[in-house]
Amino acid sequence: MAAERLSFDVLVVGSGASGLAAAVSAERAGVRVGVVTKGALQSCNSAKAQGGIQAAFGDDDSAAQHAEDVWQSSHETADRRLVEVLTDEAPTAIHWLEEHGVEFTHENGGYRLARCGGATRKRLLQVGDRTGHAITTALRDSFQASSGEALPNCPLVSLEPAENGWVATCRRKNGEEQVIDAGAVVLAAGGRCYREAEERRELSTNHPGATGEVTRIALELGAESRDLDALQYHPNGGAWPPTMQGYSIPETTRAYGATLLNSRGEEFTDPLGPRDAVSQAIFDEVDSGRGVETPDGRPAVLLDTTRIPVEDAEISLPYMLRRYRSAGIDPLREQILTYPVLHYQNGGLVIDERAETTLPGLFACGEIAGGTHGRNRMMGNSLLECTVFGRRAGRAAAERAAA
Ligand SMILES: Cc1cc2nc3c(=O)[nH]c(=O)nc-3n(C[C@H](O)[C@H](O)[C@H](O)COP(=O)(O)OP(=O)(O)OC[C@H]3O[C@@H](n4cnc5c(N)ncnc54)[C@H](O)[C@@H]3O)c2cc1C
Repeated sequence: MAAERLSFDVLVVGSGASGLAAAVSAERAGVRVGVVTKGALQSCNSAKAQGGIQAAFGDDDSAAQHAEDVWQSSHETADRRLVEVLTDEAPTAIHWLEEHGVEFTHENGGYRLARCGGATRKRLLQVGDRTGHAITTALRDSFQASSGEALPNCPLVSLEPAENGWVATCRRKNGEEQVIDAGAVVLAAGGRCYREAEERRELSTNHPGATGEVTRIALELGAESRDLDALQYHPNGGAWPPTMQGYSIPETTRAYGATLLNSRGEEFTDPLGPRDAVSQAIFDEVDSGRGVETPDGRPAVLLDTTRIPVEDAEISLPYMLRRYRSAGIDPLREQILTYPVLHYQNGGLVIDERAETTLPGLFACGEIAGGTHGRNRMMGNSLLECTVFGRRAGRAAAERAAA
């Protein structure tokens, strides 16, 4: 069974922050844009992002300092050309998001900035603790108000090069095949941590759509990848109660004063160290017998959220407080149980500064792409990468399709 064949100048695969940024940018460049996505347009990891997005706006900060922090957090494994693009364009990307309706939290006449793990400066902008939701809602509204066409529940299953671009095949829920001709294709289908966690029988923060088949399609076409083995654990997965297992406790809890404690009530690591270091410290502490156990027998340590000032929590952690309180725990009155959970695919398809993969006319942005974070991403740089490289991918794909 096959539906009527469709044709677009630019086909975007995925409707997370990176796909939406690419689709909006390509459409604004004056070409016909289609977005295919696996589930509903709203279903993605980006919408789950809570903590925030980095950009150097502080008086004591700069794009160069931001780049240096990325470089150090990646243990000098990131692609410096991509890092420079990311950090140089960060303020412009923030203003672009504002033009689309994102309202970042302000204080004292400027942005409310937090310091996140691995950062030497306060640099994390927030929309309360629903930053990803705010960004995806704004970009989705812009795309839906444009001439672009969205095809939800239409996952990509294969891609082939053609004389004037690409032929994509998608399969709808009813089994119907949807063939699409496109001048250029932007892959924005995210990472694979949901599938990886299922295979490892572990918890993950990820959305069920994060299964990685689009990366495999690109690799089979011959696209190069890097660091695909480097998966990131979020240091603070919720460990108890059961309804919070796999929830990513925002890193801003630690930015606003929460500390990690072992069973003796001792701090055992810098709560604002790079992610991999904090996760490893928790694993080590538990392995050394100084962890605690959840009522259902899982390993954990304590996150002392009672140290967060009430005002900071109310401004920057309202969603987290609501989730825990409705599960019967008040994080401002008691410590919460936490353990690292599988969270993010650090590596991915190799791209250049225009977000083009090693296959001409095939672009990639967001978590599916590698290099910007090397082998260890800093918090808050993924939403930024989605915006900066999503815009670049959309514009470059539009140029390619129009050429
Ligand atoms: C709980 C959580 C909290 C986070 N917090 C932050 C944070 O505070 N700051 C930050 O910077 N980052 C954060 N991250 C990371 C960041 O949100 C994601 O890495 C990033 O948003 C990924 O965006 P994306 O556009 O690449 O992919 P996604 O948002 O995952 O979107 C992928 C899209 O591709 C679609 N797709 C998948 N397969 C197919 C297919 N075969 N065909 C068609 N479509 C397909 C999916 O349906 C989805 O629409 C967080 C992540 C999680 C899970």
